[in-house]
Amino acid sequence: MMRETIPKKTKDALLDEYDHRCAVCGGDRPHLHHIDEDASHNELSNLLPLCPNCHLRDQHNPTRKIEIPKLQLFRKYKDPAILKPQFHPIYTRQLFLETVVSGEEDVGEIQSRVGELVELVQSLEMGEFYGKRLTEFIGPLNRAFTMSLGSSPDLRFEAQRRTANRDYRQKLIENRESARALLIELLRYQVWANA
Ligand SMILES: [Zn+2]
Ligand SMILES: [Zn+2]
Repeated sequence: MMRETIPKKTKDALLDEYDHRCAVCGGDRPHLHHIDEDASHNELSNLLPLCPNCHLRDQHNPTRKIEIPKLQLFRKYKDPAILKPQFHPIYTRQLFLETVVSGEEDVGEIQSRVGELVELVQSLEMGEFYGKRLTEFIGPLNRAFTMSLGSSPDLRFEAQRRTANRDYRQKLIENRESARALLIELLRYQVWANA
C-alpha cells in the first residue's frame, strides 16, 4: 500500500493531545489512523491514534469499523459516549442535517426529520430543556402567511412559502453545527454515558 508519511510535527502534536494512548480504549503504542481513509490527508483533524487492536482488527475491518462521520464526531468532541451503542439512534437521526442544501424546495421532509430528532431528545434525561434549545436552533420558522382569498393559484401565498422554505433551509445550515454540539452536550446527562 502506498503511504505518504505524516509530518513529524503533526504526529507529535496528535500523540501529545491523546497522551500517547489509543483514543478508543486507552491502549498504548497507538498507530495513527486516517479517519477519512485517505492516507494523503494529514490534517490533525483527520488523524486519530488507535492501538493495533482498535486500528487493524476494528477500524480496518468493514464489519467492525465505526462509520467515518461518527469517528469524525468523536475526533471533534472527544466524548467517549459517542462510541456507545446508546448514542446510535441520536447519531442516525441527526445525519440528515448534513444533507440540507439551500434553495426554495419544499421542507416538509426536513421538518418531519427535525420532529423525530426533537422527539427522541425529549425522551432522554434533561430532554425537556434540550428539546427546547434544539427547537430554537433547527425548529420550523413560526411565520404566518397571508392568503389572498379567491385568487387561484394564490401566487402571493406561493411566493411567501418559497421565501419561508429558503429561510428555513438557511437557518438549518447556519445552526447545524450548534445543534450537533447540543446533542453531544446532552450526553453528559445520560446515565449510560457515564457508566
Ligand atoms: Zn485501542
Ligand atoms: Zn488506519
